[in-house]
Amino acid sequence: MATHEHLILVEHDVEGHATGWVTAHPDLPQVRVTDVAATRGDGVFETISIGSGHPQALAAHLERFARSARMLDLPEPDPTVWADAVRALADLLADHEEAWVKTVLTRGVEGQPMPTGWAYATISADFRRERTDGIDVVLLDRGLRSDAATTSPWLLAGAKTLSYAVNRAAAREAARRGADDALFVSSDGLLLEGPTSTLVVRRGTELLTPPAALGILPGTTQVDLFAAAPEWGLEGRVATLTAADLAAADSAWLVSSVRHAAPIRSIDGVERAIDSELSAAMNGFLRRRLR
Ligand code: PLP
Repeated sequence: MATHEHLILVEHDVEGHATGWVTAHPDLPQVRVTDVAATRGDGVFETISIGSGHPQALAAHLERFARSARMLDLPEPDPTVWADAVRALADLLADHEEAWVKTVLTRGVEGQPMPTGWAYATISADFRRERTDGIDVVLLDRGLRSDAATTSPWLLAGAKTLSYAVNRAAAREAARRGADDALFVSSDGLLLEGPTSTLVVRRGTELLTPPAALGILPGTTQVDLFAAAPEWGLEGRVATLTAADLAAADSAWLVSSVRHAAPIRSIDGVERAIDSELSAAMNGFLRRRLR
């Protein structure tokens, strides 16, 4: 086991209530091959950044964990048990400036009533290049209309499910096109989100982000940035955006818990200006969050 990898198993009873947690060995087998996490991707997760031992936006992550669980008709994750588990893991990584914890709740082993839960923690990769030089992004049609979350809730648009094969495929398509990341667009032309990030654009003194009602994940990083926006003389607002809006924006970022704010330096090969000063301010703020 690498010393910077840690695992906690969150135990549940047959009613789906968390009964407590135990530490476990991350290198040993812990999940059954008949767990629907492995066979169907049937579960939910969160990835929470840890700054020098402080879980960041923990309450928002646990609320979203519960929201995803509700969307999948899974038992409600117990916020106290999960928060304790995340904090215990964060403490073990307090010597590292940047780390993360992934919480997972699955429908459990096929044919058994208990959900399976665990939280895994390790140190973060080095994202200095993405945060300072920026990222090349391609627009990818998600193939869903912007009202898909309303018309077809069974598609689970906007839930953080374990079925991220589509998101991984989008990232590989971006790499095939020579880019670092993707930005999904609805089939009717509205900008949505990245495969693992939220879009934020600056237009004048406003920071704008697409509405969660479009079937995208409500981002915790974006919420924290909008709360801090007045520090930078800016105001955050939710707005529907098109590719033309993005091209015309003063600057744009893909923001997320672990990579933080990655300024977009090109879209479909067309270069655009990045705001180095504001990017540095955003990333400094995100890294220093104590909660
Ligand atoms: N959208 C998707 C699809 C994601 O997977 C993520 C995070 O992984 C985000 C947005 C950004 O959310 P957060 O800022 O809470 O990390």
